[in-house]
Amino acid sequence: MPAVHPATKKSPRIPHLSVVLPVYNEEKNIRLQYEEIVTALKPLGKTYEVIFIDDGSTDGSRDILRDIARNDKNIKLVLFRRNFGQTAAMSAGIDFATGEITIFMDSDLQNDPRDIGMLMKKIEEGYDVVSGWRKKRMDRLFSRKIPSQAANWLIAKVTGVKLHDLGCSLKAYRSDLLKQVNLYGEMHRFIPVHASWLGARITEVPVNHHPRKYGASKYGMKRTFKVLLDLITVTFLGKYSTKPIYVFGGTGLLLLMLGGMSGIAVIVMKIVLHQSMNRNPLLILTVMLAILSVLFIQIGILAEILIRIYHESQNKQPYSVLETMNIKKK
Ligand code: UDP
Ligand code: MG
Repeated sequence: MPAVHPATKKSPRIPHLSVVLPVYNEEKNIRLQYEEIVTALKPLGKTYEVIFIDDGSTDGSRDILRDIARNDKNIKLVLFRRNFGQTAAMSAGIDFATGEITIFMDSDLQNDPRDIGMLMKKIEEGYDVVSGWRKKRMDRLFSRKIPSQAANWLIAKVTGVKLHDLGCSLKAYRSDLLKQVNLYGEMHRFIPVHASWLGARITEVPVNHHPRKYGASKYGMKRTFKVLLDLITVTFLGKYSTKPIYVFGGTGLLLLMLGGMSGIAVIVMKIVLHQSMNRNPLLILTVMLAILSVLFIQIGILAEILIRIYHESQNKQPYSVLETMNIKKK
């Protein structure tokens, strides 16, 4: 690594801090959120920019954001043409951020901007990633907290990245590192895992969390399953993307062995026990489902690889911008 990375060179025009917030139908929260952030950032004495990415809001959020950006030049605004999802919004935030440090948070008042100072301090201590941990999370227990804890535990086991709360949006990153991470689907939760695999120094700090007062959460139980599928993809791409034959070939060999064994068993049962080989439809169903599930997962992984080739070779963004404010053309 060079002594001073071009992106981290101090210059009065480059804000030190970029705070990125995805917004999707948060009309009741947005102005309060803006005020809270500015109040929290001013005492830090850093130069900053706040980037709101409006992810296709259909309520009054856009007009409020336009009004805020008109009156405050530190506020940058990016409006998507439609709803592309939180990950795409964060990915746009990464693309537009010019600060040395990028901080993500939600725009629904659930995260507390007063924690930003604490995250910054950790970055200044030399960490590349500081992950917020909602130790006292103010969400529902059964539908949110328990699935999330289970998912974090599993992800820590599988990836070796031991963080308590990947789902907490409030996180700080060195921007140069962040710009090397490509995001797809709903992968923003795995940014720290990607960063860790790039060699980042990671830590976590407990942060405040507030219940949602206005508007509704955009997610439900479905998310748990998506996270599980993402975990498979991330692990595969992290560990095996240069040697997929170990996974595909290994599974193939295993299935071949199992098939051989069950074939022998059927023949033995026929000869020794005189049992009919074809009177048990459930057996066939089970075998078929097992094979199909393996095939589906493998095809899923292939598709993941293909979309990466598709996006990366064409330099396509996972979003489309309708309008921006306070952003200089590159
Ligand atoms: N969000 C977004 N696009 C979406 C869904 C959510 O930009 O398609 C934003 C949303 O406005 C909020 C953040 O992402 O600022 C987190 O969403 P939410 O509060 O619904 O998630 P939860 O806190 O319930 O996990
Ligand atoms: Mg929320």
